[in-house]
Amino acid sequence: MKNMISRRYQETEKTAMGEVFDFLEKYDDIINLSIGDPDLVTDSGVIDKMAEDAKAGHTKYTDYRGYPELRAEIAKFYKEEYAVEIEDSEIFVSTGGCVSMYLVMEAILDDGDEVIIPDPYFAPYPSQVKLARGKAVMLSTYEEEGFQINIERLEKLVTDRTKAIILNTPNNPTGACLSLETMNKIADFCEKHDILVVADDIYTAFSFDTEFVPIMKIGSMRKRTITINSFSKNFVMTGFRVANIIGPEEVIQAIQKINENVVFTTPSISQRAALHALKMRHEIQPAIVEEFKSRVQYCKKRIEGINNMSVLDGGGSFYVFPNIKSTGLSSKEVTRLIMQEAHVLVLPGNAFGECGEGYIRISCTVGIEKLSEAFDRIEKMNMFV
Ligand code: PMP
Repeated sequence: MKNMISRRYQETEKTAMGEVFDFLEKYDDIINLSIGDPDLVTDSGVIDKMAEDAKAGHTKYTDYRGYPELRAEIAKFYKEEYAVEIEDSEIFVSTGGCVSMYLVMEAILDDGDEVIIPDPYFAPYPSQVKLARGKAVMLSTYEEEGFQINIERLEKLVTDRTKAIILNTPNNPTGACLSLETMNKIADFCEKHDILVVADDIYTAFSFDTEFVPIMKIGSMRKRTITINSFSKNFVMTGFRVANIIGPEEVIQAIQKINENVVFTTPSISQRAALHALKMRHEIQPAIVEEFKSRVQYCKKRIEGINNMSVLDGGGSFYVFPNIKSTGLSSKEVTRLIMQEAHVLVLPGNAFGECGEGYIRISCTVGIEKLSEAFDRIEKMNMFV
């Protein structure tokens, strides 16, 4: 019999996430700080309104680009938050940030086109580029440079096939936020080389030290920026699978064509929830932001008191990315020991690219009480005393 599985999917190697899931089943005192899906439950007001809408008949396919009311609310959000005018034709409601990145890549790439990805990166990016038959080109970023993008290094990667660069600020996994100075330089670079920016704006509410500025606002970037804006993290709605894409009308039209053949339309009830979340954001978001800010600050404070572990100050998102190089062990070894000895699950930094080697990623998925227990266990480990 022929192999049923396409050659592209015959690899059997386990991912870092896969190993974590195996371990989860083994013990009942595990504190899981691995994947980015926190314990907070979506606001009950949003859920109630969504349920009312479902009962009123919002249970069907919607407009291809999403409910017009939701699109209008997204445009209003951009105007109120960032003073940017977005046309309705520039908005597409999609089924989560992950699928949005794939749709964008599929829409903009010809076979072999190159996409620059700052490393460390959100693990699926290279595969999303590859699925769309593009080539992922990694741009190293370093803690010593605050994980900012170094333009000289970026310039060296440009070829005549470079189509886009992916930006994610506040960042997963490093927590770093791109400075306005870096964003201005990236804008000049993109203009000079005619390169698009795909902005994965998923942690925008969690820019704790500086105000988040969307890159589409800088210089003439509006015409060359495609923004992905997920509800997953900013509104703790990971399970709803809803996001939006903002970009030039022709890109949105191409995305609509592709999406029609993949999911047709984004789930109606998730769109209703997104609509209500946006409308109620001033009531519901401050508490979420405050909670993550205090969790991140708590983790950083604890790390300060641990030998062989250090972390950069400032930044955002709800991840902490401590440097563990002075243990003399690899990211994978440290992660495994923390898992075995402390029963705490974190992810090895190199699961997020080569530049993540020497780091671990802690996701602030639980409240301070549990985080405190996790750090109490970790700091007793031989390699950290
Ligand atoms: N981008 C980044 C940087 C992320 O961290 C995540 C989720 N962890 C996503 C995209 C995907 O989010 P979703 O598909 O839930 O919108």
